[in-house]
Amino acid sequence: MEEAVVFAKLSQLQEDLTARFALEDEIVKLPRDLKVKQELLDKINLEYIDEHTRSETAKDDFKSLRIQYDDAVHARENSEKQMELISTQREFEALEKEIKDASAKEQNLLKLLHVKEKQVHEFSERLTEKEQLMTLQKQEVDSEASKIEALLAEKRAQLETLSSKCDSYIGGDITVDLYNKFCNIVKNKKGKGIVPIHGLVCQGCHIVLPMQFVNVVRAAKEIEFCPYCSRILFYEKIEGAEEQFRKSVEDIDIEEGGLADFVDSSEFDDLL
Ligand SMILES: [Zn+2]
Repeated sequence: MEEAVVFAKLSQLQEDLTARFALEDEIVKLPRDLKVKQELLDKINLEYIDEHTRSETAKDDFKSLRIQYDDAVHARENSEKQMELISTQREFEALEKEIKDASAKEQNLLKLLHVKEKQVHEFSERLTEKEQLMTLQKQEVDSEASKIEALLAEKRAQLETLSSKCDSYIGGDITVDLYNKFCNIVKNKKGKGIVPIHGLVCQGCHIVLPMQFVNVVRAAKEIEFCPYCSRILFYEKIEGAEEQFRKSVEDIDIEEGGLADFVDSSEFDDLL
């Protein structure tokens, strides 16, 4: 295969690989939003379970207070009934104290009962709110999940087609090794795995390359990689850059001719 054909194929492969990597990225990122929504739902669920437990405890406390209150009312009523049976002042005073104490206990329990009743009611309201929130969030998660699932299926099918297309480039000068290496370069170099040299400059990393190396690339006999950025290189004739290249060749010829002292090195840099 002629090198120009290989470069053209690699450029085309680069486009397909870029599309493939973008798709792979999308497939990874797509379920992330759903994950956030699912996590929120899990959090609401846990809060609900916690609230529900506390609500049940409050209900049990309420029941127990109710029993204690009823007992207290009963005790007071019993003491009041006994009032009719007593005969002495001493008995009267003792019973009166008993009734007073029973009344106080009863009132105290009634207060506690009201507080607990309010609490039970508040828990019930909060639970209803949380149930509504859970239903809404669940609906959102379900609808998002089905949307994402459909989209993922579509993207996966596209990826499969694209992957087979990319694999089909393997053959001839594009060996499995070169293919794998090129895939890595394209992935790591933001979609640019093959770049031209303009003059002496790699258009991937913009570093000036040694003249001799550029000549090897120009000869295009083998695939060459930039020693600085690892990208595959090909020589591209560009107006201006071509002149710089020729001028550099001349400068080097002068240097090699023993006139290096007469060549200002900063001038040489400027040309590049
Ligand atoms: Zn480079």
